[in-house]
Amino acid sequence: DAKREGRGVVRLFDEGMDENIRLRRAIEGGLSQAIAKGELSLVYQPIVAREELEVIGFEALLRWNTNDHGPISPAVFIPIAEETNLIHELGDWVLGESLKVLAEWPSQYVSVNFSPRQFRRHNFVARLVETVQRAGIDPRRVQIEITETAIFDDADRAADTLYKLRQMGFRIALDDFGTGYSSLYNIRKFALDCLKIDRSFIDGMGRERESAAIVHSIIHLGHALGLGVIAEGVETEAQLQALRVAGCSHMQGYFFSRPVTQDVACEIAQARYMLDPAAADAVEPGN
Ligand code: C2E
Ligand code: MG
Ligand code: MG
Ligand code: MG
Repeated sequence: DAKREGRGVVRLFDEGMDENIRLRRAIEGGLSQAIAKGELSLVYQPIVAREELEVIGFEALLRWNTNDHGPISPAVFIPIAEETNLIHELGDWVLGESLKVLAEWPSQYVSVNFSPRQFRRHNFVARLVETVQRAGIDPRRVQIEITETAIFDDADRAADTLYKLRQMGFRIALDDFGTGYSSLYNIRKFALDCLKIDRSFIDGMGRERESAAIVHSIIHLGHALGLGVIAEGVETEAQLQALRVAGCSHMQGYFFSRPVTQDVACEIAQARYMLDPAAADAVEPGN
């Protein structure tokens, strides 16, 4: 019958398609319903400052737990959403949720990732300002994370957008710094607050002279330009110590905390300081 025939055609078509494209289609289809199905959530990773490990902010990170196939990494689905308009729908949801959680934290900021396409969206600044005002949030408590790709493709327009955002009081962080194709000369043009050193360099620090040299250079460059520097992906005490010696005051990584649920983030925010994991280890059991 017609139904059977239809199914056969679909199967044939499927088999002829590249596995990759099929997966992409499935992810796109699933993502378009993820919000309605309540499959999305945010987790928050503390950003700590100085010796005392004061928690000054949290990065909001999107999680997609599908009913049918379990969790799918943002490293997989964000690039697919980025190729379609879905990224706008997801991004609006992320921003809305991130602003809500601020009410539970005494002083910290929330750091929200924006993909290049979101950043270049028509009326990006106006939309953002409207959303933040409607939520009654001080823009100084919102950090916008963008990557080098977002700003270097159309540098003049990006510089204008960043200037406006900074004027409004938003913080601007350049994410995954060192992995893109930024010209150091151009960095001056952008109204930034901080550079986030990509975790691949932190990871290599203990093993390769080159990575350590790059980390040192970024920290010096940042400070020379009057910018803050956040090291991403700090996983060990050795990395923490090396970063301290290098003069890096802001850090983020599994060594301090993995991304946590909204409830746990709230407890951490109220406590205001992370227990130094190294100091905690140093305490002998029974003492
Ligand atoms: P990112 O913005 O560079 O986020 C940092 C990533 O490193 C996160 O991965 C975080 O969980 C992970 N991470 C943090 N500390 C450590 C560590 O010590 N070791 C290791 N190995 N990893 C660490 P995640 O959550 O899987 O996100 C991956 C990427 O997906 C993000 O990279 C960001 O580019 C994108 N993304 C996540 N959430 C959003 C979102 O809401 N909007 C947009 N546009 N992109 C997002
Ligand atoms: Mg980020
Ligand atoms: Mg990053
Ligand atoms: Mg990264």
